[in-house]
Amino acid sequence: MEITHFSDGTIGYEYDGRQFRFNPDQQLSEHFTLREMLRSRYAEERGILNVPQEEGIIEALRILCQQVLEPLRQALGQPVLISSGYRTECGNYCVGGVSNSQHVRGEAADIYCQCQNDARVIYDYIAAHLPYDQLILEHRRRWGSWWVHVSYTTRKALRRQAFTQER
Ligand SMILES: [Zn+2]
Repeated sequence: MEITHFSDGTIGYEYDGRQFRFNPDQQLSEHFTLREMLRSRYAEERGILNVPQEEGIIEALRILCQQVLEPLRQALGQPVLISSGYRTECGNYCVGGVSNSQHVRGEAADIYCQCQNDARVIYDYIAAHLPYDQLILEHRRRWGSWWVHVSYTTRKALRRQAFTQER
């Protein structure tokens, strides 16, 4: 996919016959930019850009920031680091994401946590105070990593499913 960088800071490309053009540095909410939600270590390692391949992705990411991530950030009073927001279908498959993942719709984000306690604080806060569709406290024993997956959607009623997943 060929990406054009315009002098006004926007980027443009064509995917599947559709034209996309947007500014990756736009704020989605006070503390979150679109660029943070498009960051992908998988894509960076391969020198490709992780950019939306469907209409409505940026809007879904904006709503996720405004409804969940920004209120969380304000309540914690410290940065909330996103390790994975939007993923392309292919990128999601390659990082081992579940098929049908809400990351592919721009409806989910993984919040990086330094330790189990940080993950628990974030998980508990969202569960008690914020709207969400799915909330998962995730742990990978092999790497000792912790993160909180949270999703939000306007396509259907929020399921409010919250659980812990250790692998
Ligand atoms: Zn996730």
